[in-house]
Amino acid sequence: MSRPALPALNIADLQSLLRRREVSPREVLDALQARIEDIDPKVEAYLSIDFEAAAREAEKVDVDLPLGGVPIAIKDIINVAGQPCTCASKILRNYRAPYDATVIRKLRAAGAIPFGKTNMDEFAMGSSTENSSVKLTRNPWDLSRVPGGSSGGSAAAVAADAAFGGLGTDTGGSIRQPAALSGIVGVKPTYGRVSRFGVVAFASSLDQVGPLTKTVRDAALIMTAIAGHDPQDSTSLNEPVPDYVAMLNSNGNLKGVRLGLPKEYMVEGIDPQVKAAVDAAVKQLQSLGAEIIDVSLPHTDYGIAVYYFLATAEASANLARFDGVRYGHRAENPKDLLDHYGRTREEGFGAEVKRRIILGTYVLSSGYYDAYYLRAQKVRELIRQDFAKAFEKADAIVSPTSPVPAFKLGERTADPLQMYLADIFTNTGNLAGICGISVLCGFAKSASRTDSSRGEIDNKQLPIGLQLLGKALDEARILQIAHAYEQSTDWHKARPPLAKIEN
Ligand code: GLN
Repeated sequence: MSRPALPALNIADLQSLLRRREVSPREVLDALQARIEDIDPKVEAYLSIDFEAAAREAEKVDVDLPLGGVPIAIKDIINVAGQPCTCASKILRNYRAPYDATVIRKLRAAGAIPFGKTNMDEFAMGSSTENSSVKLTRNPWDLSRVPGGSSGGSAAAVAADAAFGGLGTDTGGSIRQPAALSGIVGVKPTYGRVSRFGVVAFASSLDQVGPLTKTVRDAALIMTAIAGHDPQDSTSLNEPVPDYVAMLNSNGNLKGVRLGLPKEYMVEGIDPQVKAAVDAAVKQLQSLGAEIIDVSLPHTDYGIAVYYFLATAEASANLARFDGVRYGHRAENPKDLLDHYGRTREEGFGAEVKRRIILGTYVLSSGYYDAYYLRAQKVRELIRQDFAKAFEKADAIVSPTSPVPAFKLGERTADPLQMYLADIFTNTGNLAGICGISVLCGFAKSASRTDSSRGEIDNKQLPIGLQLLGKALDEARILQIAHAYEQSTDWHKARPPLAKIEN
């Protein structure tokens, strides 16, 4: 009997085969390696892969563990012992992780095999993965477009069936937005739900690690494995971790669930096809029994400004550690210490990272601290209160994940503000510290002239993401709603033309 090729499987289906001993972890790894060798030259999702180490783990892994024998792709900002951890930056080009991040330790304890590191915007600063100092990653649905970012490598790998699932980080949308643009599922957990120990810090009051997967169930599986208190991260919450998989609603009924539709989110500039798909998804949720109510998040307009004040301020402090003294790139033959610092950083950081450090240093400088940093903190509190009020009436909030589908490579690189606007629906969730998920809810048709001299028109389907935001520590609820939605539609079964695997 024929069955789908292994790399096309989602984690849950792969696991049933592994548990029934119909395939071995080694066979899974070999099939994945062949797939990556075939497809990654086109997508370029990976920065480094250690198949040898993975094969050694595959030999001894217990397939009866929750993620037993499942290879997982890891954003190159998370330390995996012995593997490179470059943050796609020249300054860490030769850096190898001396230890496992807590999330990696937890993944291993659940039987997963972290085998490769994925491309990203340098230090997670960006929305398209184009700020990588190494290479461009392409969207499997249309190779002339971005996969989103900053966790674009993990998203593209999963979308292209070159990974069963991945980890990313989300500081202002970097899991949800690439999930949306690449047509998969991405979860940003509540601030403190998942340990940040061993994850290179970008903006410490906003960063969270989370899963990128083919289905909501797979996201629940990874969440159950990685969530929980960590004494090594003082911001991690000491709250019990539910079994998110067991809590998925199997009958798909959303009776009694109140979903808030923020009137501020249907902004000008939102792509009409995105709006249409989200409107249809809201109707679908209603048909499953959910009650749709109006909510208001009046400070939404300030989200981008507040985020870029605070995220850059925190980044300027966090990135001060890259000085070329103990590790990372080091400038040659410095004249003196200042020359050493200056040239190391000048040579090591890319343009966007420098822009953020300069902006963040300015925001924190004594003359502007009150006007920018302090004021931004106050508006952050207003944004938090907006959500608290909305959640008095609503169990979750629905919106588009991104105002537009995947844009063309190069289309926004010249205009940082345009790039920053990609986060308009996602970064308020980080500012408020709540949880969110993006799930595929339809496709936009793109008809762009690829080669005007020949008048060729390419018609591509571009994924659209639906975002559900939940209260702090209410991951189970948004996973349930997203799962019910997903199971009632066929969107998650669509594969990019590139990913089709011949049996
Ligand atoms: N795109 C946002 C930024 O550039 C968010 C990045 C992220 O979530 N890591 O900062």
